[in-house]
Amino acid sequence: MKTLIDKLEKEHILSKDEYKTLITGYDSGLSDYLFQKARDIREKAYGKKVYTRGLIEFTNFCKNDCLYCGIRRSNRNSERYRLSKDDIMLCCKEGYELGFRTFVLQGGEDPFYTDELMTDIISSVKSTYPDCALTLSIGEKEHKSYQAYFDAGADRYLLRHETADPGHYSMLHPSELSWQNRINCLYDLKAIGYQVGCGFMVGSPYQTADDLAKELLFLKRLDPQMVGIGPFIAHHDTPFANEKSGTLELTLFMLGLVRLTLPDVLLPSTTALGTIHPLGREKGILAGANVVMPNLSPVSVRKKYMLYDNKICTGDEAAECRYCLQKRMESIGYQVVTDRGDHKPLFNH
Ligand code: SAH
Repeated sequence: MKTLIDKLEKEHILSKDEYKTLITGYDSGLSDYLFQKARDIREKAYGKKVYTRGLIEFTNFCKNDCLYCGIRRSNRNSERYRLSKDDIMLCCKEGYELGFRTFVLQGGEDPFYTDELMTDIISSVKSTYPDCALTLSIGEKEHKSYQAYFDAGADRYLLRHETADPGHYSMLHPSELSWQNRINCLYDLKAIGYQVGCGFMVGSPYQTADDLAKELLFLKRLDPQMVGIGPFIAHHDTPFANEKSGTLELTLFMLGLVRLTLPDVLLPSTTALGTIHPLGREKGILAGANVVMPNLSPVSVRKKYMLYDNKICTGDEAAECRYCLQKRMESIGYQVVTDRGDHKPLFNH
């Protein structure tokens, strides 16, 4: 098994069967071996820097009905909210003062935010904070909408593909959503010139080792600048209420494999990872991640952006989240940096 990790470290790719062998057969010794290599290679590209992104969850209205998600449209118990442009600008102001140089606007797919409104928000954020990067995470749109946001100044786009297997995708989503469309969106975003992030949940219902092996091959093909991975966590008001969550161990192992597969990728240690273990985000960094995404949403709405149960940091002020994460990163020998934290293509892969 170690020889497979050595091979991945050298070649940055394995066959599907080789990935599968690792995913089905790993233990804690092999994980430690992988994580050491993941840290070494990450440090070649980014040193001990951890990049921060200020996350603004600006709407929890959603027209989609993804089976795993707490803000799916059929969840009548979700108390819905929207932030106005002024609210969003205030979050950015607070974030800027706290040292954030990347803002992430994330939300459900909410038609209230027309392209006109989105481009207005984007150009206001970018003209007020020209030294900041702006990331959008608002789901599947038409090519012309993505183009309009890009022209208004958006730099990056996060769109998790959720699973690399179309059959698995159809078990996680209603039939009106298609895997192919989501993948097409990712290629559209790349072609327009965004720094693109895809990603998937670890341990989502019906996921197999074969699916996880396919994830790594998919990542290699798409070659995104960012990859968002976190454990699936059940939400009590969804059809997956009684499904088991993804494990800490497998999520960390996947983070390590992603790091060796795409050595210079920007890889967040996610809130979901911090939710399944009190030191989840620290462990994520030590497994090869290099980004954290503290919450900048107003405290009054935090508890309403509940994608899954027991989400952490829903009661803290932005400043508390910022400094809490800084301390957590320092405790493991890493430094949170004030920097846009752009992707650095240092390797050929
Ligand atoms: N509407 C946007 C943003 C989605 S929320 C979009 O479509 O891209 C961001 C991510 O949270 C999702 O892509 C999904 O991977 C994750 N997520 C949703 N429900 C989850 C759950 N129950 N457990 C873990 N992660 C979840």
